[in-house]
Amino acid sequence: MTSMKDVYDLIILGSGSTAFAAAIRAKELGKTAVMTEVRTLGGTCVSRGCLPSKNLIEAARLVYDAAHPRYPGLTPAHLGVDFPALVAQKDEIIHEYRDQHYASIVDETDEQDPNPIQVVPGRAVLVDPHTVEVTTSDGSLRRLTGNQLLIATGSAPLIPDIPGLANTPYLTSDLLTSQEDMELTALPRSLIVIGGGYIALELGQMFSRFGTEVTILERSERILKDYEPEISLALIDILREEGIHILTHTRVRQISGKADEVRVIAEVRGQQRHLQAAKLLVATRRQPNTSDIGLERAGVRLDAQGAVIVDAYLRTNVPHIWAAGDVIGSEMESQMATPVGAHNGGIAASNALAGTHRPVDHTVIPRTIFTDPQVAVVGLTDEEANARGIPCQCNTIPLSAVPRAGAIRNTRGVIKMVLERPTRRVVGVSMLGVNAGEVIHEAAMALRFGATADDFIDLIHVYPTMAEALKIVAISFDKDYTKLSCCAT
Ligand SMILES: Cc1cc2nc3c(=O)[nH]c(=O)nc-3n(C[C@H](O)[C@H](O)[C@H](O)COP(=O)(O)OP(=O)(O)OC[C@H]3O[C@@H](n4cnc5c(N)ncnc54)[C@H](O)[C@@H]3O)c2cc1C
Repeated sequence: MTSMKDVYDLIILGSGSTAFAAAIRAKELGKTAVMTEVRTLGGTCVSRGCLPSKNLIEAARLVYDAAHPRYPGLTPAHLGVDFPALVAQKDEIIHEYRDQHYASIVDETDEQDPNPIQVVPGRAVLVDPHTVEVTTSDGSLRRLTGNQLLIATGSAPLIPDIPGLANTPYLTSDLLTSQEDMELTALPRSLIVIGGGYIALELGQMFSRFGTEVTILERSERILKDYEPEISLALIDILREEGIHILTHTRVRQISGKADEVRVIAEVRGQQRHLQAAKLLVATRRQPNTSDIGLERAGVRLDAQGAVIVDAYLRTNVPHIWAAGDVIGSEMESQMATPVGAHNGGIAASNALAGTHRPVDHTVIPRTIFTDPQVAVVGLTDEEANARGIPCQCNTIPLSAVPRAGAIRNTRGVIKMVLERPTRRVVGVSMLGVNAGEVIHEAAMALRFGATADDFIDLIHVYPTMAEALKIVAISFDKDYTKLSCCAT
């Protein structure tokens, strides 16, 4: 066993998008920073989250759209699915992206550089408030001393306590990974998914479109239970129409089976059901990676969900220790998403190293679920606005009211707008529809600058675009939106 001692301005636990943003900011500030990484450089997003999922989801959409052309006059076509080849191209994309956006930024070889961005591979544990010990895969030990510390260890799938699960082989979203043995390289003929959140729905629809028989089990009354009910009810209809089995109000009681055959006993609306599939995917929730990293040795406090408690400056209760990204869960109304972590990683580093005293602002975080059609939201739901005592009014319209949706024969979905009364300030927008993930940025910018429904109405929108959905739903508060001529307000 070897031991070395290094001293840095900032030690960062993790090397995901949050950590990289912090390391880059530290370098810009002329400070020395080091990241640590127990798995693959770049963290969840690039290796087993956003990038691989969006790559394969798009391939699945091509397969589905070819088989289900929306236009009379186009003959359905069957695209063959070579799943191992799709996985291989996905891995290639991951490696290229990781090299370009992560590995190439790390440079420990330039001797002229006084503060290169560095990574120490291995499991990092705090041994005291200023010291991190990293155990590498060959068992060697490296001790890092930091003036400031940033916890950016991200999150991992939360495995529910279900009888029999621990003795049954199951998949998690880690199936998307590369270079790690959890990667799924063969297409299962059938799949049971536990969970009805965004990962369950994105991956469930993807597998179904590749040809797997998919059954989704959701504990609550509806999927996406924290979203507007109009959105989740419309989405469940769309997914069921595609042939995905979705059982809501379902409690999984017992799981058993082996690598290629899993059995589930569940109570569905009070009735016991026996289900069987080739594979099981557990996609319930994600939990912050805060156990086994020695936070207790520094006295860093966690909330009931195990997330690191931070203030508006991303400072923990220990003045020189900061936290950002998935590891802070929903503290300060944060969300587990890559751009949130990347944004906040930079802020945490500036606050830690340059005393900028900049608070985070999580009031406007646009978010997309990459089902087809997409779900995109920003701001408050009707229920959230009411819970905050904001007097509000809401309208929901079907996307069949949007000229572009009709023109391209894709009218699936709805849009809902929440206005504060009597100011008509827009406090929330939720959309289910084609390109919703792009459209939501107009709404996000509007929320950022306190726009009213009238601002959406007065803005000339490109015709015909899906963004007109925002203008039409705004008009619907005052007029019968079904009686509008083209582009009229
Ligand atoms: C299937 C899936 C799809 C997703 N899709 C999207 C999407 O489309 N858009 C979006 O915005 N977000 C998406 N996300 C969420 C997104 O991936 C995360 O919010 C984001 O990666 C969090 O970044 P982070 O830097 O906080 O943590 P991470 O990227 O998880 O990085 C933390 C790193 O710390 C390392 N680590 C943990 N403990 C230690 C330790 N003790 N020592 C050393 N290293 C350690 C981990 O190995 C990890 O690499 C998705 C997630 C999943 C799982």
